[in-house]
Amino acid sequence: MFGSDYSSPYRRKHRRGRAVTCHCCGQVFPFCWSCRCGFRICQACMQGNLWGMTCNGITWECPDCGGQNGFGNQ
Ligand SMILES: [Zn+2]
Ligand SMILES: [Zn+2]
Repeated sequence: MFGSDYSSPYRRKHRRGRAVTCHCCGQVFPFCWSCRCGFRICQACMQGNLWGMTCNGITWECPDCGGQNGFGNQ
């Protein structure tokens, strides 16, 4: 009864209700991977270009500035 019931997945998903435009396909998504330079890419494009974006599955390289961005570090 005193367990920490605070780890609800709802909190994680609800970051911000702001739509983001994918710089790759131009469509609007509630979530996109983003680089510090302003580049945005949606989940679908990331999956489709994964072979060219990441070499280790832990970080992805921004095609705009070449910066390394971590997955799940949004
Ligand atoms: Zn896209
Ligand atoms: Zn960048």
